[in-house]
Amino acid sequence: MVTSDGTASMRGKTVVKPVKDMGAVEPGGESMTRNAVTQLKQACDYLAIDEDIFNFLSRPVRIVTVNFPVMMDDRSIRMFEGHRIIHNNLRGPAKGGIRFAPNVNIDEVTALSMWMTWKCAVVNLPYGGAKGGVACDPTKLSAKELERLTRAFTIAIADVIGPQKDIPAPDMNTNPQTMAYMFDTYSKLVGHTSPAVVTGKPIEVGGSMGRTQATGRGVAITAREYVQYHKMDIRKMRVVVQGFGNVGSWAAKTLHDWGATIIAVSDVTGGYYDPKGLDIDEIFDYVQKHKLLEGYGKARKISNNELLTLDCDLLLPCALENQITAQNAHDLRCRCVVEGANGPTTPEADRILEERKIDVIPDILANAGGVTCSYFEWVQNIQNVHWSLEKVEKELETIMVSASAEVHKLKTERNISYRMAAYLIAVQRVARAVELRGFWS
Ligand code: NAD
Repeated sequence: MVTSDGTASMRGKTVVKPVKDMGAVEPGGESMTRNAVTQLKQACDYLAIDEDIFNFLSRPVRIVTVNFPVMMDDRSIRMFEGHRIIHNNLRGPAKGGIRFAPNVNIDEVTALSMWMTWKCAVVNLPYGGAKGGVACDPTKLSAKELERLTRAFTIAIADVIGPQKDIPAPDMNTNPQTMAYMFDTYSKLVGHTSPAVVTGKPIEVGGSMGRTQATGRGVAITAREYVQYHKMDIRKMRVVVQGFGNVGSWAAKTLHDWGATIIAVSDVTGGYYDPKGLDIDEIFDYVQKHKLLEGYGKARKISNNELLTLDCDLLLPCALENQITAQNAHDLRCRCVVEGANGPTTPEADRILEERKIDVIPDILANAGGVTCSYFEWVQNIQNVHWSLEKVEKELETIMVSASAEVHKLKTERNISYRMAAYLIAVQRVARAVELRGFWS
């Protein structure tokens, strides 16, 4: 057998190269890719997956770095660096967001692309995983400069993306308008209207009903399913939500509509707590109007650290990564963490929570509602049809309930964590695709 770097190997004797030698990791410091590969290794070891398949899955199939010029408003020209990384495309075209942020780098984008592969696989979407981004500070760019940057980046990666190849979506600091520019630029390049090249578009140009709510709604569905498996009642649940942005606000609102009591919410300005329950509709309207929770005076103000350690049933971290750490994991007083954000729990905290018998519904399952609705958008674009909100919600419900059930079943049968169960299902599906497609013959 021949490995990807061309050296011969015997089955079971392949030397797994350290991740830092894979050409995908920035020198020095913590490596997100190394963490992602460690998670993959654990799943492969558990499943006794062939080492050749592990070697294949631990590397992205395609890393594209582009440098491109953009004209600034003062007519000066600035160079920008961007990346598009396809981790895997064996189960279908690659899928993943595009972010604009100063620290975008190959290590980060590689890890995120790998997590997209597992996220799509755990909910059984016919997609592989990808991620991309441009290293820039969008707060220092005008709307016109951002438009030119988006169009220039789209042209630079036009041969990588495509409705049947790799389908970008919004991510950090990108939005439906960014996707509208990408769709327009790509369509001009290929000479026909091609809405299925990106998802997360505005509804007027091929976006899907329900996309805005989808991730938060998916978080709420996985939380509700967890409650049902454990023979509890959603109407008796006390819920704490960190982050009241897109994901957190819709997760809180959906659970509130289903009768749960949301006792605390927070954003970057701090949290609000009422043990009797917050008026989520009022807070939702307040944030629509004022953008932030700051100034909402109808509950006790608390810090984000206090919020995480409140006594509750369900804790939903829906803000950003690395919020539950070895420092605060011993102090959590919830029964279950439902990861709305990507990577809110560090691996050390994960171990502590497992010892403390606090369940964690992992991000790759809990927040997969967003990519699932992106998939619906792509399907509608390809078929030139438009689904009603009711249809989107019904289909989302079916996929999230079924994926939650599969993960819960495996977790229970094997007495493992929800995270491990979700990884096993996802990695198994992708590994099986490698075997069936016979990649080395
Ligand atoms: P957002 O920008 O709409 O909201 C983020 C929220 O977190 C805001 O309320 C912000 O004030 C708050 N926040 C920021 N720093 C905080 C801090 N230190 N403490 C408490 N709150 C803080 O972002 P979003 O789209 O809701 O995404 C949230 C998370 O969910 C991210 O990890 C994102 O990657 C992940 N995610 C989002 C989607 C999606 O469809 N939007 C899909 C999958 C995963």
